[in-house]
Amino acid sequence: MRARDVDSLAEGAFDILIVGGGIYGLAIAREASLRGLRTALVEADDFGAATSFNHQKTAHGGLRSLQSGRLDRARDSILERRALARLAPRLLRPLPFIVGTYRSLLKNRLALAAAFRIDRWLGRRRNEGVEPELHLPPPRLSSRAATLKLFPGVRPDGLTGGAMWYDYQIVDTSRLAIAFAEAADAHGARLANYVEALQPLKETGAIAGMRVRDRLGRREFDVRARLTINAAGAHAGAIMRTFGVARELLLVKAMNLVTSRPASDIALAAPTRGGRMLTLVPWRGTALIGTSQSTDFKTPADLSVSAAEIDAFIAEA
Ligand SMILES: Cc1cc2nc3c(=O)[nH]c(=O)nc-3n(C[C@H](O)[C@H](O)[C@H](O)COP(=O)(O)OP(=O)(O)OC[C@H]3O[C@@H](n4cnc5c(N)ncnc54)[C@H](O)[C@@H]3O)c2cc1C
Repeated sequence: MRARDVDSLAEGAFDILIVGGGIYGLAIAREASLRGLRTALVEADDFGAATSFNHQKTAHGGLRSLQSGRLDRARDSILERRALARLAPRLLRPLPFIVGTYRSLLKNRLALAAAFRIDRWLGRRRNEGVEPELHLPPPRLSSRAATLKLFPGVRPDGLTGGAMWYDYQIVDTSRLAIAFAEAADAHGARLANYVEALQPLKETGAIAGMRVRDRLGRREFDVRARLTINAAGAHAGAIMRTFGVARELLLVKAMNLVTSRPASDIALAAPTRGGRMLTLVPWRGTALIGTSQSTDFKTPADLSVSAAEIDAFIAEA
């Protein structure tokens, strides 16, 4: 990747300026530069260091969307998961998930068998063009005995068996973000970290780029572009306000717990007492358990996690 060069941002005239170098901004930068568009990206901090790092490292297929009856989203997720496997095979690995089945309306074997049948059909091309070691087996049901063996902590009362499916684990989310940055850079995009977008440049009613601040060089300058894309994650609302759009973006705070106890190499899924599905995902020899969600709305500045929030999450789980 070329050295950081903020002068090239100040001097260039771009088709697209992307605000935010998380996974969305970097993927847009790669896509735009591949299509021959003159692309610039500014990231206020480091690439992929915000939400795109602090997540549960799973590239989901469509099962969660099937739960809510969204077949279109389920199909899109399967296709995007495959696209990622084709683009970044070294940064993914297949990860099995298991959930217990019970004598209940939604978590019974019949409901899951039906969901799996749809998933198998929607995902029938999930492995096309993907390296053999990343091929995902189809989802399947398992017996009660096998489930108890694979998932020793599963609630045994009313357990009728288990359901198993595969997604990808993103082995290293930072490397994935940097891989997108490198690909964009290789196709001519100009990317700079530690450059914060401040205010839009307005010309005859249109936005013509952004006034930005180089946080390392401590100077401000303009980046001019025909189109400005807001990929600022939790700060997207603040950027929208500078554009003159007053609509509020409502944010909840989400977190994962990292355990110090080693975890087995299989991901476990189980509902909370309130019915929300949680997953325990093996990660670097430990486990990531999540995702907790605040019940009230938060601001992007609310990043700290209190002992009370951790206790509440453990009680919920
Ligand atoms: C606890 C948790 C677990 C999750 N688990 C998963 C999972 O397992 N699988 C999954 O697919 N998704 C998961 N997600 C969702 C996923 O993390 C997000 O969808 C994704 O990371 C969002 O990426 P982004 O690029 O929009 O945001 P971010 O990664 O937050 O990037 C936005 C960037 O914009 C920058 N920025 C903000 N303001 C400015 C400015 N003025 N100028 C320049 N730059 C600016 C920020 O510094 C930041 O780097 C999880 C989310 C959470 C919170």
